[in-house]
Amino acid sequence: MAILPIAKIGNPVLRKIADPVDPDQIGSRAFQQFVDDMFETMYEHDGIGLAAPQVSRSEQLVVMACPGEEGFPETVLINPKILFYGPQQVEMWEGCLSVDGLRGKVTRPSMVRVQGLDRQGNLQDFEATGLYAVCIQHELDHLIGKLFLDRMTDLSTLTQLEEFEKYWKQVPASII
Ligand code: ZN
Repeated sequence: MAILPIAKIGNPVLRKIADPVDPDQIGSRAFQQFVDDMFETMYEHDGIGLAAPQVSRSEQLVVMACPGEEGFPETVLINPKILFYGPQQVEMWEGCLSVDGLRGKVTRPSMVRVQGLDRQGNLQDFEATGLYAVCIQHELDHLIGKLFLDRMTDLSTLTQLEEFEKYWKQVPASII
């Protein structure tokens, strides 16, 4: 396994539309190794999600996990699509391994139905809510060249990490 270098904001790879993964490649040793490396890189940096463009591979692959968070299993999504957005919106603080040291509030649908292949190449079709749903939308945005900063409607909530810890961390996410 290996820790992969993370592309930071300003790197053009983060602004590209990612290519679909060839399903025939999913079973290959190289691809499986890449998925393992993505998980290792995500855990190393205490992330809860990582998209392949963030490690400079413009492909439709994301990994996610949030140990201890109910309803948020370890997930691999390949060539994913969001089929449905729930009607309710949720406002949550987001950060990104490609945007060092910043947090900002983003409002997104609180439920999504998503379809995509798993790391065995099997089709998954499921609904996600709460933090899991927000993370899925954040990671899938990476596959179309979007960062959470693009989704912020109010830049006045943009906060450096130290100030986030000091002033904002205890304020819970709100359903709006
Ligand atoms: Zn991100």
